[in-house]
Amino acid sequence: MTTTSVRLLHNYVAGRWVPAAAATGELDVTNPGTGEVLARVPLSGRADLDAAVQAARGALAEWRAVSVIARARLLFDLRARLVARSEDLARSVAVEMGKTIGDARAEVARMIELVEAACAVPTTMQGRILEDVSRGIDAETVRQPVGVCAAIVPFNFPAMVPFWFLPFAIACGNTFVLKPSEQVPLTQQIALEEIDALELPAGVVNLVNGGREIVSGILEHPDIDAVSFVGSAPVAKIVYEGAAKAGKRVQALGGAKNHMVVMPDAVVEPTVEGIIGSAFGAAGQRCMAGSVVVTVGDAHQQLLDPLVAATRELTVGGALLESTDVGPVISCAARDRVADWIQRGVDGGATAVLDGRGAGEGLEPGGAYLGPTILDGVDPEMEIAQEEVFGPVLCVIHAATLDEAIEIVNASRFGNGASIFTESASAVRRYRHQVQAGMVGVNIGVAAPVAFFPFSGWKDSFLGDLHAHGPDAVEFYTRKKTVTSRYFSSGQGSGSYFVER
Ligand code: NAD
Repeated sequence: MTTTSVRLLHNYVAGRWVPAAAATGELDVTNPGTGEVLARVPLSGRADLDAAVQAARGALAEWRAVSVIARARLLFDLRARLVARSEDLARSVAVEMGKTIGDARAEVARMIELVEAACAVPTTMQGRILEDVSRGIDAETVRQPVGVCAAIVPFNFPAMVPFWFLPFAIACGNTFVLKPSEQVPLTQQIALEEIDALELPAGVVNLVNGGREIVSGILEHPDIDAVSFVGSAPVAKIVYEGAAKAGKRVQALGGAKNHMVVMPDAVVEPTVEGIIGSAFGAAGQRCMAGSVVVTVGDAHQQLLDPLVAATRELTVGGALLESTDVGPVISCAARDRVADWIQRGVDGGATAVLDGRGAGEGLEPGGAYLGPTILDGVDPEMEIAQEEVFGPVLCVIHAATLDEAIEIVNASRFGNGASIFTESASAVRRYRHQVQAGMVGVNIGVAAPVAFFPFSGWKDSFLGDLHAHGPDAVEFYTRKKTVTSRYFSSGQGSGSYFVER
């Protein structure tokens, strides 16, 4: 369903909104709840990327000359502007991505929190100094910007994930090129409108819409110094390898398969609530979504009925309705792919104690609806227990002991999040010590760190060494320079420092 009256999005280059001059095509941006075409996004070409990179390169000297305190103040201004636009941003997230309006508001709150964390740059960017590393010689390390930094982002957090990078990159004196997900490019148009209103030199922040061609262009462009990527594991690998080959600094956050271990002493009601929020929030399309519950011992019997009963109560529907618990998935193609996963799980021997296929009946016919699904009796060897499904599907695996549960969790090639539900400190101690995942939740279903801590996935969920946000962001977006100095006329004694008594 395409009409000519639908707006074609522009890129933002050198402080101006410009049409993609070298576009190789266009795509519809659709509301996944209705199928309505919201806009068209250009598949920009290399020349469009090059214009943005040249603008970013050209702005580096002017931007670096702005004091770090003035840079932080611009971010304070950005924060205020985003707060004022937060409901517009949240509605945009809900409409183009499909997560519920409540969830979208929480995403925008986290987006703003990331700007707040970046405002601390006059403190976080400080270096270190040590006097007298040798007689009369001092050593100091200062942090300087890396240069032009690019970010390539996924569809599932249209507001937040670009802000894992943008505010920290520019706070540290870098300039920035963003490639939004072509499936959800609208929310960043709002964010960039607010950036455009700042007293920011032209070219500090640029946005280029597009797909794979722009990703390849970013990897190959000689004037891009650092690349941040968030998306699926296969593409993370392409980006990590490509950027490293070109000698760029790179961090690549990939897919996930997150486990939630439930011990027999877990408090049932909040545990059920935590599991449901994790597995079915954003229709299971979070990289921190818990998609496998591992029950230990009697936990299976205690948990399953209340879990199924509470999940059955969830309302599937349009993202903007306050009554909706589970919105659509990103597209009808994604819905069909997830439905196929459910069928493969059932064919493989799992029992669908709740089957969400068909939940779209009676809802908008063009919508990509799929209800929450719980598959019990899943074997850890099954493909559905190992691969990322990225939809509202929860697998339940039974383990006899905590050790067996930890073994199941650690067999995964992913290592983003892992939660445990228990009141036992010793079980928690063992779990957090042994589990091979970079973000651990204790009685928390979605253990996504706040902006002031790193988003620290492991294994195939993260390629690189410096994570997104938290202290790692300043590490990633600065180069260290260590200066060793002495002055021949300064003398070497400490005579006047300690007064003789
Ligand atoms: P995706 O990998 O399909 O797309 C991510 C970005 O890469 C997009 O901007 C897209 O244009 C580009 N891209 C897609 N295919 C490409 C290719 N073959 N070559 C070059 N570029 C390509 O991911 P998605 O479907 O948009 O997002 C969902 C995925 O992101 C899930 O796997 C989810 O787990 C992951 N994710 C991970 C994290 C994390 O922190 N680890 C956070 C959010 C999302």
